[in-house]
Amino acid sequence: MTTGNLFIITAASGAGKTSLIKALLAKDEHLKLSISHTTRKPRPSELNGVDYHFVDDATFLRMLGEAQFLESAEVHEARYGTSQSAIEAPLAAGFDIILEIDWQGAEQVRLLYPHAVSIFVLPPSIEALERRLNGRGQDSAEVIAKRVAAARTEMRHVSEFDYVTINDDFDVALQDITAIIRAQRLVGSVQLQRYADLIQTLT
Ligand code: 5GP
Repeated sequence: MTTGNLFIITAASGAGKTSLIKALLAKDEHLKLSISHTTRKPRPSELNGVDYHFVDDATFLRMLGEAQFLESAEVHEARYGTSQSAIEAPLAAGFDIILEIDWQGAEQVRLLYPHAVSIFVLPPSIEALERRLNGRGQDSAEVIAKRVAAARTEMRHVSEFDYVTINDDFDVALQDITAIIRAQRLVGSVQLQRYADLIQTLT
């Protein structure tokens, strides 16, 4: 049986990765997004169990102590983590999984899953990033200033990723990521397993 692929998608906050991932999921039924746990408060538009599993610090630390997380990190003074259970069953069922995580999480996942494919989404400029962070209108000026600084830190890790796309034109960035996912699904070793019966009849 073939298991699914793991795709890590990382970007500075404001680079548009959440919208890109939403569009990817809408057009690909073999793709699932891993829902992370976080200790940050939900934004007005967010739902528990859909955008994140929102938990308190004590719950997060308990889960950490019980080794329930595949990876975890502190970002913007909150804790975030991918639970083992968020990915194990869908991967085993053959779904491809997207992990929308930061560079620290990406580093941990690469060690556990060396075949995971990592993609970094960059904004076209720092000005565009600032505009997008301001345009969201959900966070204070102080939070935004902190996020711009954090964005620069995040982007210093771009060279650690397998693929890089610039989200200037949304459709182009979407096509880029779609192409990466498609190429990964066609990797020879995976195809040999998936089409073992066919290949036997052909060779
Ligand atoms: P936000 O609070 O804006 O949803 O996300 C803030 C940052 O946390 C983003 O860079 C996002 O990729 C990262 N993040 C979200 N979930 C996880 C997770 O499960 N693990 C890690 N390491 N980072 C995460």
